[in-house]
Amino acid sequence: MSTVNGGISFWYAQEGTPAPREPLPGDTTADVCVVGGGYTGLWTAYYLKKAVPFLNIIVLEGKFCGYGASGRNGGWLYNGIAGRDRYAKRHGHDAAVRLQQAMNDTVTEVIKVTADEHIDADIHQGGVLEVAYTPAQLARLKAFHSVEIAFGETDRELLGARATAERVRVTGAVGSTWTPHGARIHPVKLVRGLAATVEALGVTIHESTPVTDIKPKHAVTPYGTVRAPYILRCTEGFTASLKGHKRTWLPMNSSMIVTDPLPPDVWDAIGWTGRETLGDLAHAYTYAQRTADDRIALGGRGVPYRYGSRAATALNADRTHPATIEALRSALTRLFPTLAGTPIAHAWSGVLGVPRDWCATVTLDRSTGLGWAGGYVGSGVATANLAARTLRDLIQQDSGQCGPTDLTTLPWVNHKVRLWEPEPLRWLGVHTLYAAYRTADHRETTTHTPTTAPIATLANRISGRH
Ligand SMILES: Cc1cc2nc3c(=O)[nH]c(=O)nc-3n(C[C@H](O)[C@H](O)[C@H](O)COP(=O)(O)OP(=O)(O)OC[C@H]3O[C@@H](n4cnc5c(N)ncnc54)[C@H](O)[C@@H]3O)c2cc1C
Repeated sequence: MSTVNGGISFWYAQEGTPAPREPLPGDTTADVCVVGGGYTGLWTAYYLKKAVPFLNIIVLEGKFCGYGASGRNGGWLYNGIAGRDRYAKRHGHDAAVRLQQAMNDTVTEVIKVTADEHIDADIHQGGVLEVAYTPAQLARLKAFHSVEIAFGETDRELLGARATAERVRVTGAVGSTWTPHGARIHPVKLVRGLAATVEALGVTIHESTPVTDIKPKHAVTPYGTVRAPYILRCTEGFTASLKGHKRTWLPMNSSMIVTDPLPPDVWDAIGWTGRETLGDLAHAYTYAQRTADDRIALGGRGVPYRYGSRAATALNADRTHPATIEALRSALTRLFPTLAGTPIAHAWSGVLGVPRDWCATVTLDRSTGLGWAGGYVGSGVATANLAARTLRDLIQQDSGQCGPTDLTTLPWVNHKVRLWEPEPLRWLGVHTLYAAYRTADHRETTTHTPTTAPIATLANRISGRH
């Protein structure tokens, strides 16, 4: 059987692409205009409408809701947030502990609201299991575990080789860490359910409506302009294609494969009955889930970045490079050699947004009414929900309906970050970074050294990642 390549994602192949909603019919006004119909935009519309039901909210989506990473991701709903350690350095440990606690609560919040709204997104809270299979990974795993405990995650467990195998039999795994603050989801079922819920609440969604320019109080499209006191940019990995934003967030590529459903005897050999989301401690890490219909979906970095932040839209229409599919297949058989020869049903890619300092942010500029959230660096499934509730509070605060809240005072709010370098430095930087990670992983696997390869430490430092 040949592998289906591209076509948005396996999740859409499974669910079918949706019938498009009507584009913007012409110039109009709103109280809030949300640009982008992924998790960030839709959750923001959801919480605002719930808080103030009479608000006139318009969502403008260039393609269709869930076209971006929200319809393509690995389905890890988990408590990781990009930049926490840097926020700790800048705002103090306690502020970062509050941010982490908010992320832990966010996983619970998404599970609760989807249940309340009858959104069936195949959610299963099996926690997150991250495994080490080299001595250097084991050293990083132990350090990572201690850091997470220090940030208040006292329910995180450190597991030895045997306890790891009792959960999932990853070949050569020497240890793992498990946290309950994670769940597997079906990305498209979530984004689609969310769009329908938001619409049923009275939010207007216009699809096939690309915003060509965002200015204070204006979102400009080829079909007309929406004028609103608040314009919220929720375009994540696509932000570089907006006027004036080429160097704001770098569009980074992530690619995935999914197997056919695996038979019971394979699952007997692998275990994974807890359906934890599963990752590793490699520098160029992989992430995986056991789907509701017993496949393995696994992702990792492919071609990380296209020259000139090249249009994310073109990138998303692209097929995944055969070498990337092969790399993901070998990552799969590295974890589970028994799957050598298992057909890969589908391969696809998507883009995520990476800020220069690798820190996620949520902002409302009160002088212009422009807001934005993103830069999640691959940890956006839960973070988008926290961002949305924060944007709600920031808007309510700005319009005098409330004061500062627990969310508006978190350290990632209104964080400023410098722009990425001009080309060719961006391209060179990202490709060098990922080449360094691949070299480091290879070295750690072949030499069995217990220390992280210096090239990876150097790459992290130069890239501004740590
Ligand atoms: C392959 C892959 C795997 C991932 N796996 C995980 C994971 O397992 N766990 C995790 O936490 N995170 C993961 N992520 C990241 C996560 O999916 C994203 O951070 C999250 O979905 C971002 O949601 P968003 O709404 O901000 O952006 P998006 O989902 O990208 O939505 C942006 C929307 O804006 C629209 N848009 C863009 N430009 C315009 C414009 N000019 N006008 C109008 N509309 C526009 C797009 O069409 C798109 O629908 C993954 C990402 C990828 C690509």
